[in-house]
Amino acid sequence: MMRIDLARLSEERPMLLSVSWDAKGRELDAPGIRFEEPVKIAVSAKRDSGLAVAQVDVRSKATMTCARCLCDFAVKIERSFKLAYALDISEPVVELDDDIRQELILTYPQKVLCREDCRGICPRCGVDLNKERCKCQ
Ligand SMILES: [Zn+2]
Ligand SMILES: [Zn+2]
Repeated sequence: MMRIDLARLSEERPMLLSVSWDAKGRELDAPGIRFEEPVKIAVSAKRDSGLAVAQVDVRSKATMTCARCLCDFAVKIERSFKLAYALDISEPVVELDDDIRQELILTYPQKVLCREDCRGICPRCGVDLNKERCKCQ
């Protein structure tokens, strides 16, 4: 669990946390996205304008499968985002895990494509239209 102890959070000196997640255990794989390495998470947390602000950096490597042509390709996962929490909550400790997981999943592509203009596979004859033409059209 990544936790920020709000009582110890300062404005000047960031609190640094880092952890490595097992992608399977955290259920980070998604349709067309398969992690190949542990997911490294680094958090730098500070008190800022009445909030607890955590800068989160996520690093890993994944294999993605194009939804159109079904080819596999390697992708570096590099995501950075901020999470902010009110300081006046009754809980003195903020747990980050669920929010980090949610935020990471929100950055996944809606549809995995090897490239924007991937032509995919012909639904009739099964030819990879990136590589050859078929006579179906
Ligand atoms: Zn493709
Ligand atoms: Zn065809």
